[in-house]
This record gives sequence, C-alpha cells and structure tokens, in this order.
Amino acid sequence: MNKDKTIKIGVIGVGHLGNFHLKQLGKIPQVSITGLYDNDPNRAEEMSSRHNVQSYNSPDELLDSCDAVSIVTPTGYHYAVADKALDAGCHLFIEKPITASIDHATLLLNKAEKLNKIIQVGHIERFNPAFMALETSNLQPLFIETHRLAPFNPRGNDVPVILDLMIHDLDIVLSLVKSEIKDIRANGVKVVSSTVDIANARLEFENGCVANITASRISQKSMRKMRLFQEEDYITIDFQSGEVEEYKICSTPPDLSTGDQVVELAGAEKRYIHYHKPVITQHDALKEELIHFADSIIQGQQPETDGHSAAEALKLALEIQKIIDS
Ligand code: NAD
Repeated sequence: MNKDKTIKIGVIGVGHLGNFHLKQLGKIPQVSITGLYDNDPNRAEEMSSRHNVQSYNSPDELLDSCDAVSIVTPTGYHYAVADKALDAGCHLFIEKPITASIDHATLLLNKAEKLNKIIQVGHIERFNPAFMALETSNLQPLFIETHRLAPFNPRGNDVPVILDLMIHDLDIVLSLVKSEIKDIRANGVKVVSSTVDIANARLEFENGCVANITASRISQKSMRKMRLFQEEDYITIDFQSGEVEEYKICSTPPDLSTGDQVVELAGAEKRYIHYHKPVITQHDALKEELIHFADSIIQGQQPETDGHSAAEALKLALEIQKIIDS
C-alpha cells in the first residue's frame, strides 16, 4: 500500500468500547474515519453526532467505502461481521476475543490469508505502557502469577470471565513463554451471572514454567497485576497503574546514580539485590494499538497481536472453560 495513503476506516458496533475506538481513531493522522454502523439506531445517532462521523444504514454500504474496519460488536457477532468485511475487501481490527469459537477463527484466518488482508485483535494489554517498557525477548520466566480482578458490571457477561478478562493474561503468558503446555488445571464458579464469574487456571509448560492465572469480575476492588519469577530476577507489572518494578540479584554493586536501590546479601560471595523502577512514559493503549493496526496495513506487515496469536489465546481459553464445565 502507498506509504503516504490515509487508511479509510469504519467502526461497526459503537457501544461502550466503540465510543473509545471512534475517539482514538479521530486522533490518528494516518487514518480517516469513513463512518459507523450500529444495529441500534439510537446509539448510532448518538455516536454520529458526538464524534461528527457519518452513520450508515447498513454495514454493507459502510464496508464498500472502507479500506479497514474496527469490529466492536459483542463477541457473538464478531464472526458474521468480520466475514462480511473480508468479502468487502477490508482489513480487520476485531475486539478480543477474536470469535466465540475456534472454527470461526480458523475460517477468518484462512479467508484473510487468501485475500491478503490483515487481522489484528484487541489484545490491548500488549500495548500497555508498562508491558511495552519490558524487554520481553530476554525473559525466561519459571513462575508467573496473575490477578485480573474487576467489580461486577452487567456488560460483558454474555461470555464467561475466561473469555472476557482472563484471555488478556492468557495472550500475554503465551507471548512470554516459548514452550508447549503440558498440563492445565482449572476451576471456576458462577456467582452472579449465568456464566463463570471467577476462575483460576494453572498452566504447566514443557520447559518447567508454571503460570497461575486468576480472573474475577465480582471483586470489590479492581487489580491487574502480573508477577514474573525467573533465575535471580523478580519482575512485577501493574497494568492498572502502568508501573514495572524489578528485583535482580547481581554480583556487582550498581551505579547508584541511576536511582536504583541496593541491598547487600549476607554470605561469602558479595551479592546484591538491585531494586529498579523504570520511569515509564504513559500513553493511551487503545490509541497505540490502533496506530499499530494502521501502520501494519500501510507497511504490509503482520501486526504483533495478529489473528493467529489471538486464535491461540482463544483455543487455550476454551480448553480452560471446558475443564471448568466438566
Ligand atoms: P457494548 O454492548 O457496550 O456495545 C456493543 C455495541 O454493538 C452495541 O451498541 C450494539 O448495539 C452493537 N451491536 C450488536 N450487534 C451488532 C451487529 N450485529 N452489528 C452492529 N452493531 C451491533 O459492548 P462493549 O463493552 O463495547 O464490547 C464490545 C466488544 O469489545 C466485545 O467483543 C468485548 O469483548 C470487547 N471489549 C474489549 C475490551 C478490551 O479490553 N480490549 C474491553 C471491553 C470490551
């Protein structure tokens, strides 16, 4: 694609999150918003006037005028809308989870490959400033503990908490641990809604790493934390506050001018615990992932959070769900 070209993008589904898609897309220079479609005409009208974006009467009419589309409908509609958009020749940004079933995800991936279209999925935490500040290529975690806890909200309860919240951490863990999963243990409970509201999964990988993942949408307070332990290293990532802290065992005292704190360990050999909290430049993760989508189209490259990695996260989420249901 011409590198100076502006990507003409439409948004389908302009509820809670679609509103933010419109807001952030409007700030990206390499994008122009063609229009929106929502099957609730009142909501479509409200978003059209709030963002000064044309509302279309049918998705087909909108898709015919776009290079790409953001699909922000409830998960159950992702496949039908995405399939239609591919037929209209659009690149796809699909909110997470990619689809409700693996069969549907596979159909989309195959069709997109045949038509040479990009699929990016809204695994937004990979664009969290705290996660982006980590040098992930050097990480070899052996134990990972995650907590993603949210207060109850009637939105999102059409799918179990595994597909709604836990899938963010499943995607991140799969991106960090380059090894096959050997064993999965999981349990979960329906407390408020008709699907699982709180769940825990323990993943054991062939390389010895264990990930203990907890997600809840019925908590009093919200928390989005991940702790990574590897040899002589402990890293904590707070996705909510956008902070990273690291405790590392070293044999040399660090350069104290960097602001690191140091504890000397007892023993014959001199060893130190270095405490480091990097200064992180904050940014809007949604804007960042939509910029990445536009740039991937312009440069003809697969995005970081492409349809294949999203399908892997979905496959794992559905396996966890099956274990809980059995
Ligand atoms: P929502 O219910 O607030 O909005 C969905 C909108 O889609 C509504 O306005 C509805 O009228 C419209 N809609 C429904 N079916 C449609 C169809 N077939 N065609 C066009 N419009 C249709 O839901 P939401 O909270 O905005 O969630 C939307 C999606 O975003 C879900 O897939 C959800 O999992 C995902 N989500 C992702 C994150 C994240 O962190 N990345 C956060 C929240 C939601």
